[in-house]
Amino acid sequence: DVSTQPRRTTKETHPNLPPGLILDENGKVCKVCNSWQDFAKIKKKQSAPGSGDGKGRNVLLGGAGMGGFASLLSNSNTTSNPAFTSKADKEVVLDRKDCPPDTAALGRSTWTFLHTTAAYYPLQANSNQQFQMTSLLSSLSIFYPCNWCATDFQKDIRKNPPDVSGREGLMRWLCERHNEVNQKLGKITFDCGIKNLDERWKDGPED
Ligand code: FAD
Repeated sequence: DVSTQPRRTTKETHPNLPPGLILDENGKVCKVCNSWQDFAKIKKKQSAPGSGDGKGRNVLLGGAGMGGFASLLSNSNTTSNPAFTSKADKEVVLDRKDCPPDTAALGRSTWTFLHTTAAYYPLQANSNQQFQMTSLLSSLSIFYPCNWCATDFQKDIRKNPPDVSGREGLMRWLCERHNEVNQKLGKITFDCGIKNLDERWKDGPED
């Protein structure tokens, strides 16, 4: 069911963290609901002498594994620490590999899966395929790990039920749903013409 709970952010609960970071249901900063750029606003955790990497980088974000990242997010005592401002520091944060996805990485991967799946969906789907696709989309709107993204997606698909009749209808419908999010985020919208969609998600550009 669509959640009616207001989104909780650090503004109300964590005076020592930058305002506006979205919290999870346990009151911790939610990784998949915020972007790495948001995390970069969090100031460095105070390092003990000798615990840095020798280049002034924050070992917790720059070089450590998940444990360091988690402890940074759950540590709100960061106000006295130097800000996370140097270009090198930001690159280290934004270029991290093999780390939990932020909202943008999760979103890109999910859209890639959805648009590609739609591109290979049957031209005319039978009733079982239509049922399975409807279930997939409905489950996604419940289990999508960025909970406020999921809530908006639920509302949107309730207003605009999926067209699961065949690949063209599904591709257009998904494109329109993606455009709803694009508009919400102030991004340019995508041309939902089938030629454009096929080129992006199935055939690639013409030679
Ligand atoms: P993306 O928007 O991820 O797009 C990836 C690629 O898809 C683009 O490079 C482009 O080639 C292509 N593309 C773009 N638009 C379309 C379209 N309309 N149709 C077909 N192809 C297209 N983020 C939030 O911050 N808030 C939210 O509420 C939110 N809700 C989301 C809900 C869902 C269901 C999903 C899957 C993601 C959501 N996201 C949300 C993530 C967001 O949509 C982006 O994925 C993320 O911001 C990264 O954007 P991007 O610019 O890298 O490209």
